[in-house]
Amino acid sequence: MRCAKNNSMSIRTRLTLWYTGILAITLVVFSALLYSLLAGILLAVMDERLASQAQNITRLIQAENDPVAVLLSGRVRLPEIDIFASQHYIQIVTADGQAVQLSDNLRGQVLPAPPVVADKIVAGESYAFTTDAGQGVRLRVYSRPILFAGRPVGAVQAARSLTELYDSLSVVRRVMVLGGGIFLLLAAVGGVILAAAALRPVQAITTTAQRIAGTQDLGQRIPVAVANDELGRLTSTINAMLARLQTLFQAQQRLIADVSHELRTPLTTIQGNLDLLHRGAANDPAAQRETLRAIGDETVRMGRLVNDLLLLAQADAGLRLSLVPVEMDTLLLEVYRQAQVMAQGVAVRLGAEDQAQVMGDHDRLRQLLLNLVDNALKYTPAGGEVTLSMYRRDGWVQVAVADTGIGIAPDDLPHIFERFYRADHRLTRPSGSGLGLSIAQWIAQAHAGRLEVASQPGRGSTFTLWLPEMTNSKLQIANGKWQMADGRRQKANSRWQIADGGQ
Ligand code: ADP
Repeated sequence: MRCAKNNSMSIRTRLTLWYTGILAITLVVFSALLYSLLAGILLAVMDERLASQAQNITRLIQAENDPVAVLLSGRVRLPEIDIFASQHYIQIVTADGQAVQLSDNLRGQVLPAPPVVADKIVAGESYAFTTDAGQGVRLRVYSRPILFAGRPVGAVQAARSLTELYDSLSVVRRVMVLGGGIFLLLAAVGGVILAAAALRPVQAITTTAQRIAGTQDLGQRIPVAVANDELGRLTSTINAMLARLQTLFQAQQRLIADVSHELRTPLTTIQGNLDLLHRGAANDPAAQRETLRAIGDETVRMGRLVNDLLLLAQADAGLRLSLVPVEMDTLLLEVYRQAQVMAQGVAVRLGAEDQAQVMGDHDRLRQLLLNLVDNALKYTPAGGEVTLSMYRRDGWVQVAVADTGIGIAPDDLPHIFERFYRADHRLTRPSGSGLGLSIAQWIAQAHAGRLEVASQPGRGSTFTLWLPEMTNSKLQIANGKWQMADGRRQKANSRWQIADGGQ
């Protein structure tokens, strides 16, 4: 119950309560210390005065020829001070504690003393104590022994009422309580105002967040009041997060639109061909074959698209590659043979081929190179040429797939590695989904490598894959990922990049 109540309390109220509470405790402790210090000082001052009075009278008695006789007779000459009119009292007692002389203003009433006082007199020690004189009057008494020949024969006890002192302290107490209360009240009000002002930006954040939730418009931003304070930084961080969310959301929407578009085309073709079959194409064996082939082609296309999408989704989710030593020259030879099978009217050649080993995933590297070769063959008209070559340079292996095809327009070049990006070839648009190069780029980066392209429209394109050689001492594999041998992440714009979770 208490917990729920606490949670429902606003930060402003909690801050104010804490602040006022801590202030109140500090104030009470400080006031208590000050009060007891003051009381102690006042009492010490009073004790000092009483001590000096008692001393004066003790001296008078000790100056007599026969102090003991004077003492016992009760004929001590008390000094001419206004003790009799004031609240000062004098009492002279013998060593066994019997009162032998009292100042007149005591009116025969003996000052009460606790038993310890008699012991102190016998021990020859001075002693200050507080005693109750009846009728609510409390007295402070200072007892000083009278010594004769080094032995205590009695004591002079000077006393004074504590009423005045108590009155003064009571005034101080009242001032402290009243002043402290007013001070705390002002502090609490100030605290509420300050907390409200400090938390106002939080309200702005809440309002914007609610508006975003209500309108689902990720384009809204929170106004930043003071950029450099804690809330300003929080606001900037939330704004940056909103911008990132907006980008991701837009990318996701674009992806959904692209995927549905790409899937709709083959589905429409399949649907159309099925209609044809329904409408009698089945009667003509040639037409039937053609229709079924078209359906088969589209199904394969769709299957490839779904596989590509799955791979990219896995890459996004941080798919780990199984890295083993791979002979790149052998792999290139395999790809070369496959390319020869795929080539239709395009000559496939093998250029320079150094021997090199890399740490990699054999199947993925093969898929990467086949994607490049497939594109090269797709975008090179019959009669053209595709050349595969491989070099070793400074700890790196470069595999180049060069074609003499249609090339890529400078406007398209920066985008060809984006998902679903396809240059508009207008007249000739070979089949494809626009995912091949994104996958190739991801595989390259997951091997601490990269993919580069150089192209001239009408003359051809060259795609170059850079992979770190197995002996590259600056790189090592940790947790299935490449990283610098000294544990650093790669720098932006360095000659190579390391993919982290398929970025
Ligand atoms: P697609 O399935 O369309 O080939 P990719 O991601 O493999 O998708 O390629 C993206 C785009 O890059 C292609 O649509 C094409 O415009 C361009 N492209 C890729 N390789 C070549 C090449 N060798 N020659 C000319 N254009 C190319």
